[in-house]
Amino acid sequence: MQPAPTPTVWTIKALLAWTTDFLKSKGVEAAKLEAEILLAHVLRGKRIDLLVRYDEQPTDAERTKFRELITRRVAGWPVAYLVGSREFYLLTFEVEPAVLVPRSDTETLVLEALKRLKPMTAPTVLDIGTGSGCIAVSLAHQKKDAHVTATDVSPDALLVAKRNAAKHGVADRMTFLQGDLLAPLAPGSVFDMVVSNPPYIAQSEFAELSAEVRDHEPRIALDGGPDGLAFYRRIATGIRAFLKPGGTLLLEIGWTQDAAVRNIIAEQSELELGPTLKDMGKNPRVVTAKKK
Ligand code: SAM
Ligand code: GLN
Repeated sequence: MQPAPTPTVWTIKALLAWTTDFLKSKGVEAAKLEAEILLAHVLRGKRIDLLVRYDEQPTDAERTKFRELITRRVAGWPVAYLVGSREFYLLTFEVEPAVLVPRSDTETLVLEALKRLKPMTAPTVLDIGTGSGCIAVSLAHQKKDAHVTATDVSPDALLVAKRNAAKHGVADRMTFLQGDLLAPLAPGSVFDMVVSNPPYIAQSEFAELSAEVRDHEPRIALDGGPDGLAFYRRIATGIRAFLKPGGTLLLEIGWTQDAAVRNIIAEQSELELGPTLKDMGKNPRVVTAKKK
């Protein structure tokens, strides 16, 4: 493809057109969207407002900053780290390289959790491996009488999750605990619902991940052990002590892991498997279970 002719006047419209072509030529899939997100960030505005500002000419300093971001994007940096935020479900979350960039696939889990929480009064929820807090904060934000406990082994991730809770006005209904999986939970504490999007990439699959994910997102957020299932085994065996009778367990899975994770849950006599839910792309995404 021929590059678009270089315009002499760099309006917002011209910058976006040129950058979209450039990102496309470098293999960036969502080139137009990402060009808009990056330029809106530089101009400190909203992406949709760019449309009505098409004829404005950003300053030289703004163009320089934009160019720097494009260079880093093309070098593989996820756009969410470059601008420091990502939209997830109904909210905008602060993100930095200590946390996984929230994925739209994870909204499947959030929707199911909210559906089940809706009829409950003052439910207690546990989110294991909260990362940015995208699941935990979304639940607390939508279910106004829920108390949500969020854990992570990474202190840096917990700082991000706490900032997101404060930003969205739910920190007073959340508890943050640092530590390995279930270890930081007080003995005897029980929840109406436990949710988790644990690390689930098999170590053998790391070579096949896109460089964007593999080289920039935290390994600790992705690495699910030799076969990718280590966290499901640990959660399945340990969770019964922390679920109320009839309490719900929702686990996000990789789209090839449905049968394996269902088998792991089925081995636990105190857990009763429910249906596996599909994501927007019709892939298996959330394994559901209840404590008997
Ligand atoms: N919940 C977030 C989301 O859905 O975007 C982040 C999910 S990320 C796939 C998994 C998270 O689990 C990371 O934040 C990581 O730091 C955390 N984690 C990894 N190992 C852990 C462990 N042993 N105990 C608790 N959290 C752990
Ligand atoms: N969905 C992420 C990916 O495919 C993996 C997240 C996880 O391990 N839970 O990169």
